[in-house]
Amino acid sequence: MTLQQTIAEYLKYTGQKGLDISAALIDCDGVLYDSMKLHTQAWVKLMKKNGIKCTRDEFYEMEGMTGSEIIKMKFKKGAGKNITDDEAHALYGVKTRYFRELGEAPVMPGAVRVLQTLKDADVERILVTGSQQDTLLERIENDFPNLFGEVKVTGHDVRKGKPNPEPYLKGMAKSNKKPSQCIVIENAPLGVQAAHAAGCFTIGVTTGPIPEKDLYKAGADLVYKNMDELAAALPSLLVALSLVKA
Ligand code: CA
Repeated sequence: MTLQQTIAEYLKYTGQKGLDISAALIDCDGVLYDSMKLHTQAWVKLMKKNGIKCTRDEFYEMEGMTGSEIIKMKFKKGAGKNITDDEAHALYGVKTRYFRELGEAPVMPGAVRVLQTLKDADVERILVTGSQQDTLLERIENDFPNLFGEVKVTGHDVRKGKPNPEPYLKGMAKSNKKPSQCIVIENAPLGVQAAHAAGCFTIGVTTGPIPEKDLYKAGADLVYKNMDELAAALPSLLVALSLVKA
């Protein structure tokens, strides 16, 4: 399918008359940082310590759910235990400690170039992450200086994890944008589902082990191999999107 056909298809299923892209809603883990290997490793350690069988791949599939949702589901299925909110909170603290012990995740190659390209095109960059870690939010300031604006959505803003569209709806509400004004950049199937359900033109990047077809199945409009490939394609993509102004 050509880029023009992809965009026409998106307009058709959303019922929109055109696009006027002025914001990009950008996921964090697996998009800005190559952090999913460390997250999945920390999750497996937490489960093993609690006698719950699991594979690392499961945690790639669950990426985007809140930590509490993941813990409650795994303890129920794996050990028949109903975990309270307080217990889930404490267990998530342990997982966060394991994650930190693994060292800092590297900045994703291509991420700076994607953000800079958006900035040069006057497209507002809005961070959308489920994280509540203030250290991560500070790190983003340091690693991507002047590349994000004031508006951001964090774990403090949302109650429901992905695939619920809440994080992306919040991002649009906070920046006063409509779906026809936004693109989303996501790496996980549940994140893509959330963005698609929010009505945004959704760009997937396969930065982990999950194959391209799974991101398309989740509702991605376009999928790139990685952030470098997206960075290279972005100028012509932004031109193509601007040609269908309502
Ligand atoms: Ca992600």
